[in-house]
Amino acid sequence: MTGRIDKKVAVVTGGCSGIGLATVQRFAQEGAEVVIGDLDEVNGPGIAQEVGATFVRCDVTTKDDVDALFRKAFDTFGSVDIAFNNAGISPPDDQSILDTDLEAWQRVQDVNLTSVYLCCKAALPYMLEQGHGSIINTASFVAVMGAATSQISYSASKGGVLSMSRELGVQFARQGVRVNALCPGPVNTPLLRELFAKDPELAERRLIHVPVGRFAEPVEMANAVLFLASDESSFITANTFMVDGGISGAYVTPL
Ligand code: NAD
Repeated sequence: MTGRIDKKVAVVTGGCSGIGLATVQRFAQEGAEVVIGDLDEVNGPGIAQEVGATFVRCDVTTKDDVDALFRKAFDTFGSVDIAFNNAGISPPDDQSILDTDLEAWQRVQDVNLTSVYLCCKAALPYMLEQGHGSIINTASFVAVMGAATSQISYSASKGGVLSMSRELGVQFARQGVRVNALCPGPVNTPLLRELFAKDPELAERRLIHVPVGRFAEPVEMANAVLFLASDESSFITANTFMVDGGISGAYVTPL
């Protein structure tokens, strides 16, 4: 442990799997008090115990749950310094606009976008009152690039997360609160594995566009989130933070 966020209080949504779980572990290693908000009541308490974090059962689409999550962090540890608003879904019934019905569209908007609105709305009053804070919202590289293999509601939701983060970063910059959007490229997590298990060809097709030639590991996202959460990134806000293995910079990729 090097204490890069020593004694900071960090709330992480979607902290029971993938990018969120890796970030919970990384934050704990660096000395933070971590509060996990996730639906997963089966694994949540064990994960929390292992790293010395606190687990709160929370559905990020429900305002009361989200408010209670941040209140728990504040009441237990006395501040809310870092909010990693990360929970998200990528269900198979969200695909081409021609095949995606309104229910699937709405469900993805609720979990991926409305949740980030709720989390920022809950975190900001604590951060503004104390005069500092770092919010990191998980968007995606698809917020800035189009894909022919469409997941229409997912992409639209991530565009919303990116633009909301930018606006909040600008609005609150002079009050000591930084807000950045993490834009991961494809990451080797259950979310991605589920999507590609059905269709290995789809995975191969995606890899062609990644200059480094592989998907990211969750800890590579966690390291970026740690940087954005810590004071090392004190001049970075309202930023589109691409962690994408070069995808967004590429025209022709190596063979
Ligand atoms: P994951 O499926 O591994 O983990 C998601 C976590 O969110 C799970 O623990 C799940 O229980 C939780 N969750 C789902 N719905 C919830 C709800 N309503 N309330 C509370 N918790 C809920 O996913 P991941 O791959 O780690 O993705 C994390 C974030 O990163 C998502 O926002 C995703 O869109 C984004 N992202 C992922 C990739 C990728 O390739 N994996 C790429 C870009 C962006």
